[in-house]
Amino acid sequence: MSTVLIVEDEHELAALIRRQLEGEGYGALVAHDGQTALLLAAQSAPDLVILDWMLPGLDGLTVCRRLRERSAVPIMMLTARAEEADRVLGLEVGADDYLTKPFSLRELMARVRAIFRRIDLERRDQDAPHTPLNHGRVQIDPVARRVTVDGDTVELTVKEYDLLLLLARHPGRSFSRSYLLDHIWGDEYEGGDRTVDTHIVRLRRKLGELGERIVTVWGVGYRLEL
Ligand code: CA
Repeated sequence: MSTVLIVEDEHELAALIRRQLEGEGYGALVAHDGQTALLLAAQSAPDLVILDWMLPGLDGLTVCRRLRERSAVPIMMLTARAEEADRVLGLEVGADDYLTKPFSLRELMARVRAIFRRIDLERRDQDAPHTPLNHGRVQIDPVARRVTVDGDTVELTVKEYDLLLLLARHPGRSFSRSYLLDHIWGDEYEGGDRTVDTHIVRLRRKLGELGERIVTVWGVGYRLEL
């Protein structure tokens, strides 16, 4: 059973989320402050952390950073702050996803299920990194570095291919431009954020109508929706 750690100082909201998760077959733990959250996370190694940003004592951002120092557990931040700078900051310290308050439980659960689907995909990918990725009409063969759409080969540059592979390996996950620059370009990077944008534009064009699945995450970067 997958276990979710809920870190939320509003007791009623925490209880509501807990009931919903348990109703859908997940295990749930609740912490009402950051210190307790770190303790529980260390003791019970949850599979997902739902983390409120505004907490008494240690704030959510600090908790996120500390969790990241010792684990790769997916972290979904809850925030009442929709500002671009905040969302980027959250992704930079290692949050995987965001939900802006107020949200519906339905939306929350959809995101939770998406994260667990992604974990499954990543696990399968780690077990067999050379297995072709099959996303319906798009197929990616990591050995041949070949991409086909509806059976037709799409000619991609090295960076376009690397970008697509990264997004396709983590569908539903939002990547910031700076993360993409670091991981795709690394030391070769020059030019700035626009480098990512121009590559995405070309990639979308080459993928045709399926290019629309590469979604712009406002103020942050990009994600692939399947
Ligand atoms: Ca709060």
